[in-house]
Amino acid sequence: MPSDFVIRLGLCEVQLLRGDITKIAVDAIVNAANSALAGGGGVDGAIHRAGGPEIMQELDSIRDRLGGCSTGSAVVTGAGRLPAKYVFHAVGPRYRDGKHGESEQLASCYTTCFNLAAERDVKAISFPSISTGIYGYPIEEAADIALRVTAEWLREKPGPLRVVKFVQFSEHDHEVYRRRAAELRGGLAAQTHG
Ligand code: ADP
Repeated sequence: MPSDFVIRLGLCEVQLLRGDITKIAVDAIVNAANSALAGGGGVDGAIHRAGGPEIMQELDSIRDRLGGCSTGSAVVTGAGRLPAKYVFHAVGPRYRDGKHGESEQLASCYTTCFNLAAERDVKAISFPSISTGIYGYPIEEAADIALRVTAEWLREKPGPLRVVKFVQFSEHDHEVYRRRAAELRGGLAAQTHG
């Protein structure tokens, strides 16, 4: 799959891609999960279908141990048949009106996943557009948060990470990410290169 928009931030390449996240090989694929870790539609359904039942079996045992996963956090499983080593199941916020801590919770999903990546020596990670499907987060703001958190994290503690792929399922979402990235590009690069 061609990577049609790239921002270089320090040693890391941030790519914007349109497509199916389950088909793209990386070390860690991020899932947009729910706090019950119960499986759902959207990207979660696609990840479980493509990855096979092992992933849900692992989530069942995590749920037995921890009861679930809080909003803004994430849990880790293997990736079953997916072209990856791990799946990070991040729980994004349901969007209400933007005044209920949604932006902090969404930012926390991305930060948590970057921290999990650093702990596991992940060099390439892919993200779907967390919360912007069934959970209704406005795509422009969500794209902005995803890109800003990424730039901040790469500036402060890039570690072994070399590739971050943001995968948009629809052409419309892809256009929004590209537009937001283009607007932020100068600022993002400046942030990272000081
Ligand atoms: P949430 O409940 O967090 O909103 P959804 O799965 O409903 O999660 O949607 C998150 C985003 O994932 C949406 O933009 C949706 O279009 C996208 N999506 C759905 N299937 C896939 C897929 N196979 N690959 C990448 N993104 C996907």
